[in-house]
Amino acid sequence: MKYDAIQIRFGELWLKGENRDAFISALYRNVSNAVRGLEYASLSKQRDSFMVGLDGKSDIEGLVSALSYVPGISWFSPIMIAKPELRDMMRKAQSFAREAKGKVRIEAKRSFKGHKFNSMEIVSAMLKASKTKSFKLNLDKDADDTLYITVEKERAFLHLNKINGVGGLPVGTSGKCIVLLSGGIDSPVASFYAMKRGLLPIYLHFYTFPDREAVLKSKIPKMIKALAKYSNGAKVYYVPAYLFQAAAMKMDTRFELVVFKRFMYNVAARIAEKEAALSIVTGESIGQVASQTIENMSASQKGVSQLILRPLSGFDKDEIIRKARQLGTYGMSIQEYKDVCSIRIKRPATRAAAEQVDRLYARCKLDAVEAKSIRAALSVSY
Ligand code: ATP
Ligand code: MG
Repeated sequence: MKYDAIQIRFGELWLKGENRDAFISALYRNVSNAVRGLEYASLSKQRDSFMVGLDGKSDIEGLVSALSYVPGISWFSPIMIAKPELRDMMRKAQSFAREAKGKVRIEAKRSFKGHKFNSMEIVSAMLKASKTKSFKLNLDKDADDTLYITVEKERAFLHLNKINGVGGLPVGTSGKCIVLLSGGIDSPVASFYAMKRGLLPIYLHFYTFPDREAVLKSKIPKMIKALAKYSNGAKVYYVPAYLFQAAAMKMDTRFELVVFKRFMYNVAARIAEKEAALSIVTGESIGQVASQTIENMSASQKGVSQLILRPLSGFDKDEIIRKARQLGTYGMSIQEYKDVCSIRIKRPATRAAAEQVDRLYARCKLDAVEAKSIRAALSVSY
């Protein structure tokens, strides 16, 4: 089937009153970056949509796949463009015959009211005309497919169904954030939800490998590349955990996890300052494991001025897993990986007090270790 264009619609952007122009420009920039390198004829901004013009060489499959990763798009669809007259619309509608799986419902609307016909008349004329054709239209609510017709002043758009976009807001419109990414199931999902609300992620991962090249060959870069499809690239800081581990050697192991969390937040805060990021994102979920109590989280985050976002706060584990599968990160997350948090600690404290963490932090001189660890970090862009 020879489509004329792919129409891209943004939903929530309309809610943002004053920011609307900035949001549309950001989405337009993100869409252009997402389709860069793919074959298409043109890309243009319309009044309330974007249009990717297609020609015989265009890579429709590639374009559809790329667009399905762009937050801020509510739906998109390959379309046919007809003249705003019933005969041409019917002729173009027929070309969808082969794409349709079963019953096809018709829905019409006009964005220009000056035509001789209204939406009802379009629908009834199309229904009538289709009676004599092999491609039958109807008004069944339970139809397998829907043919949408939108009539503007000078043209009409026709498409079969809508392809759901990510929804949400364009990446970058909520500023940068530092994502604390482990090798686990939760933090990649948290990163997705942060991106969906317009945050541009900069990843921070603490690794336990003795040499830093090993982390580059691990599953972590693969996970980040899977997530980077939504942000069209990503910057990562790989920070070694051994400096912390050496400094915390003599610490009561029950407190090591909550102190390490404080350490991770503090390192994240330092990197946030350097990168002008306003928030920190983690994969924590309230009460999911013994260490993720409100008390522990409060004790860990003390002193951090950046907003700490925990997009999975209210998620059950099975909901997180379902989303991880959908994102394609689940398979990588469950692969064996020696994560920092899984070592040494058998019975972590569940009600640590901030002052206790302060004391242990000072005793192990962890402030200095933060700076040292950042100096030993490897920063990579994908
Ligand atoms: P996840 O599935 O994301 O690993 P989790 O349920 O295993 O989470 P924890 O191990 O307590 O929980 O980690 C809580 C959060 O701390 C993670 O979601 C992540 O944001 C951060 N975190 C844990 N380990 C690391 C690490 N090695 N590097 C960076 N961040 C980490
Ligand atoms: Mg973990």
